[in-house]
Amino acid sequence: RQAAFRTDLSVLLDQVGAGKESLSFMKRRIRRLAQQWAAAANRLDAKLEQRWRDQKKILVHVGFLTEESGDVFSPKVLKGGPLGEMVQWADILTALHVLGHNLKISMSVKELQGFLGVPPGRGSCPLTGPLPFDLIYTDYHGMQQMKQHMGLSLKKHKCHIRVIDTFGTEPAYNHEEYATLHGYRTNWGYWNLNARQYMTMFPHTPDNSFMGFVSEELNETEKKSIQQNKVNNMAVVYGKEASMWKQGKDGFLQILHNYMEVHGTVYYETQRPPEVPAFVKNHGLLPQHELQQLLRKAKLFIGFGFPYEGPAPLEAIANGCIFLQPKFTPPHSSLNHEFFRGKPTSREVSSQHPYAEQYIGRPHVMTVDYNNSLEFDSAIREIMRTQVEPYLPYEYTCEGMLERVHAYIQHQDFCSLEPPFVPTNLSRPGSAGGSRVPGPLFVPLPNSTALGWASNVTAPAAWPPLSSLRLLVSQEGQSCVETCRSEGFICEPAHFRFINNKEALRRLEVQCDVVDSEVNHILPAFSVLRRECGLQREPLLFSCAGYSPKYRRLCPCRDFRRGQVALCRDCL
Ligand code: UDP
Repeated sequence: RQAAFRTDLSVLLDQVGAGKESLSFMKRRIRRLAQQWAAAANRLDAKLEQRWRDQKKILVHVGFLTEESGDVFSPKVLKGGPLGEMVQWADILTALHVLGHNLKISMSVKELQGFLGVPPGRGSCPLTGPLPFDLIYTDYHGMQQMKQHMGLSLKKHKCHIRVIDTFGTEPAYNHEEYATLHGYRTNWGYWNLNARQYMTMFPHTPDNSFMGFVSEELNETEKKSIQQNKVNNMAVVYGKEASMWKQGKDGFLQILHNYMEVHGTVYYETQRPPEVPAFVKNHGLLPQHELQQLLRKAKLFIGFGFPYEGPAPLEAIANGCIFLQPKFTPPHSSLNHEFFRGKPTSREVSSQHPYAEQYIGRPHVMTVDYNNSLEFDSAIREIMRTQVEPYLPYEYTCEGMLERVHAYIQHQDFCSLEPPFVPTNLSRPGSAGGSRVPGPLFVPLPNSTALGWASNVTAPAAWPPLSSLRLLVSQEGQSCVETCRSEGFICEPAHFRFINNKEALRRLEVQCDVVDSEVNHILPAFSVLRRECGLQREPLLFSCAGYSPKYRRLCPCRDFRRGQVALCRDCL
């Protein structure tokens, strides 16, 4: 069946259910943004020009909100606890509904069993019939629950699963045997999924798919009025929980206070939290729309280093604030910081909000060393004199999210076998040319018919299309994430299978005495010194994130749309 855009959200609101603060929060959000979603649906509908869209049967099982997982989030909704996840789930549900899919929502193990047709009760009763869904969106908690209640059939059906995973999961951590053998095992598990089945909150790990969420959009009149009514010396502090204000903040808070009136939205029960200095005007935790109003007046939204990578900075920037945040030197990661310890990623987090730093930047975002009071001081003064317009990257608008989720649903297929690509012309092992390894090398494709390379690909199956591939070589110690980014591209894990071959090495004039095929997440790669080349034997380990000091990697990069990094030019 063809999917038709929906602009009425009442059915969805009924489906979400009631009785918990988390659900009320999500419903308030869905209602508040309803108009915006409807307008976006109409725009995307027009943009797609009647293109056929399959209507999918989709189950959304929100594992972290189930009682069975302990649901630690719901009781914190009104107390300054994390809301980012709820923001994202509300938006995912809305996007799927608006795109016109056949949606079922489960927030308990019982509902999950009911929808899957698994008999209730203890033990792992496998699902015997076919899976009654084309797609299942869940999270790590939900994975665990499905494993418990679907037994072995989970394995059989896992290509239909998408895991909403805020901070991301790198391939080395996802592959059970490899993770176990090489020290990448974490409590989150190793589900042997295709890493693109993990969907993140920000586009930080291109090995995963970027799901995102939305932020409120302003029309031109609103933008004008916001700019006219900005209070140049008003700052709002990012941090709704008192603990985020603890320790060592006094120095720079005092500097800030020298110039600006400081506001906070810190949760408190009866008394002002002692962590919040007396000069701060604390509003208490605000409902989302009231926070937006506060941000409309404020000039500065200032982060203290935690929480990491939340939605609020995007909301602040969308409301015309400048976001000031601390640079992390050295970067925070699962190796050196409690919060990331045990998370299935080695990603190095260079500031409180790397997306804001790298994808938005000045004048909307300033990332400075908070230990350097001169630098901090001059940043505040600069912010007070800088005029900025409200800004929201397209990928965080409703239309951008609908466009991206639409593309994933119609094109991402982890169920059909992706045969390893075998190029036609494999006749020459080793190199033909000089000793120098060119790099990074730009190889335009697919206009490579003459080279006998990538010409016989069954292109219709490839998504992103092969036309978007650019082959580059990393420096030693550099990941493909960095390599592609440094040339204005993005690493595209789906393209690894096209460059994991001798022909690619030959095209790059790599000197190989031997070409081995191994199971290692930095492959395909080569050592210049040892004239050793390695190809990847385990497709699940194709990794943009991997790097090794001794190896230069072959990197499959692709182009991307401005403001929609998940999609290449020809991806829609
Ligand atoms: N938020 C809110 N009231 C407040 C402060 C924040 O409703 O007083 C909302 C904010 O609009 C954002 C969400 O909380 O959408 C999550 O914010 P944050 O960036 O703090 O991320 P978290 O750590 O909660 O995931």
